[in-house]
Amino acid sequence: MGPVMSGAVQRALACFTLVAGSSVGQSFYLSNDAIPRKETVQLTIDPAREMFDGSVSIDVELRAPAAIVWLNAKNLTIGSASVAQGDMVRPAKVIPVSDERIGIDVGQTLAGPATIRIAYQGRLDDKALSGAYRRKLDGEWYAYTTFAPIDARRAFPCFDEPRFKTPWDISIRVRREHKAFSNGRELSEIEEPNGWKLVKFATTEPLPSEMVAFAVGPFDVYDGGVAGHGTPVRVITAKGHAAEGHAAAQATAEILPRLEAYTGIPYAFGKLDHLALPAGAYGAVENPGLITYRTRNLLIAPKEAPNQENAAFTRAVRALQAHEIGHQWFGNLVTQATWDDVWLSEGFATWISAKMMDQEIPPERIHISAIAARERMMAVDTPTRSRPVRIAINNRDTARDVYNRVVYEKGAAILLMLEGWLGEDRFRDGLRAYLNEHRFGNATTDDLAAALRAASGNDTSRVLNTFLNTTGVPELRGQLLCDRDAAPRLRVAKSSPGSVPVCWRADRVATSCTVLEGPSTEIALPTGTACPAWFYLNSGGTGYYRTHWSQAPLRALPELSGAERLTLVYDLRASKDASAQAGLARLASDADPEISSAAREALK
Ligand SMILES: [Zn+2]
Repeated sequence: MGPVMSGAVQRALACFTLVAGSSVGQSFYLSNDAIPRKETVQLTIDPAREMFDGSVSIDVELRAPAAIVWLNAKNLTIGSASVAQGDMVRPAKVIPVSDERIGIDVGQTLAGPATIRIAYQGRLDDKALSGAYRRKLDGEWYAYTTFAPIDARRAFPCFDEPRFKTPWDISIRVRREHKAFSNGRELSEIEEPNGWKLVKFATTEPLPSEMVAFAVGPFDVYDGGVAGHGTPVRVITAKGHAAEGHAAAQATAEILPRLEAYTGIPYAFGKLDHLALPAGAYGAVENPGLITYRTRNLLIAPKEAPNQENAAFTRAVRALQAHEIGHQWFGNLVTQATWDDVWLSEGFATWISAKMMDQEIPPERIHISAIAARERMMAVDTPTRSRPVRIAINNRDTARDVYNRVVYEKGAAILLMLEGWLGEDRFRDGLRAYLNEHRFGNATTDDLAAALRAASGNDTSRVLNTFLNTTGVPELRGQLLCDRDAAPRLRVAKSSPGSVPVCWRADRVATSCTVLEGPSTEIALPTGTACPAWFYLNSGGTGYYRTHWSQAPLRALPELSGAERLTLVYDLRASKDASAQAGLARLASDADPEISSAAREALK
């Protein structure tokens, strides 16, 4: 795996590749010469037919004089194209330069505002899991979309990168007996001849193309009423299944207000529909206003009486929904500027889902499930079994790896660590500032670090660099130094390079945090402190590192939280020495069933 390139270097390289026309072919990224300002899409879709008609009208700002405007399109049959500037409309040639992009060539150099119009035909594949596709359910055809990360271009020509956020004006002509849905609320239905109608949707807030969505077919709708700050909620199902949407609507009514309270920002996308997909490339996609889920991740048949298994299933449905609704702030309101930083979407959604779900359990169990998930990540966080959270995405092949598990699980674990280090309130304040500052725009990891620094006074950038751009789990060893003629100190040694925030506490010494830089750091205990009976090197259990214990800290056990005891189980399991076995034997009788079973498992 190569080193992570900065966004600027990568874009510069992309432009160079384009100019040089190198053997690797056209650049994966579009240039900054043409910036879309608004995209209007009109589609004619009968899901029973394989082909659909489309036309787009894209307002662009041509920032550098150019005769050819490049944009993304894949597997579309272009009928005609033109470019308008004021009253002047020029027909354009379409240059199909690769199977990812087209050039719109007006034959003369243009600059400034312009409108590109393209009429085309696209295909509703009945096997595909991405782009616009169709499926037959109970004898009836339905059309769906799954665009993230780079398949909106299969449904319409567009500037298909997350940094190009624009308002979308979508209308779909459908058979009169069908329903149509998209990100915006429905504005009107206009009857048209021959059994058609035109459904117009409200203009969206600025969205990246990959978050546009639509669906057409004989759907049923479960009306979930209004949630939080007045957001209408619906669950959209195949015909005859509306009642199965009840639990999902109930979950939104409970989870949406929690997210609004945490972020301090009301849900920003007008309405919130959850739509069940018979097939999709992912478990769910967070399209603003029209979140899509594989059916089994969304719908719960009401006849299934509540029981133990059902409760776990309902909880999983709720946790996934908390992840997807969490994206409405982290990912949709503020979108990563490039896919390198997709952890700003997926790490955050994973972290905040765990945080929202923790509000449904007793306080002593807080962070337990996040720590169990972190442990599964740590087990594979090696150069051969994983990859850094941030990597450069440069072509369709690497784009397949955008949603690698490490982006979710390690991303979330890093956020848990930052929250533990900076403090829950200051971390939240930093996130609120980050969301407000980049609202409806894009952001980078550096933007996040700047907001956290302003809110907390701590510079997180070296820590972020350490954990986002390399693989591996740091290992720490601690030792109390209690010499007769010197004040007691805690020495902490670190196994690997990089910056690691360690939060620690000791008998009668409250938690404090220090960022370890070098291989060994000595931390003075507060003045007047006697040599403590115990210390613990991962306060709150929030740190993404292992502690190697030469002696299991058994005297600390009565004082440790559930999150700290579970972290200790995993640390002892990793160290595999005799003292660790004794510690695990004690933890095997822990009052918390998850901790005791993890300890018993580790003893096997
Ligand atoms: Zn996600």
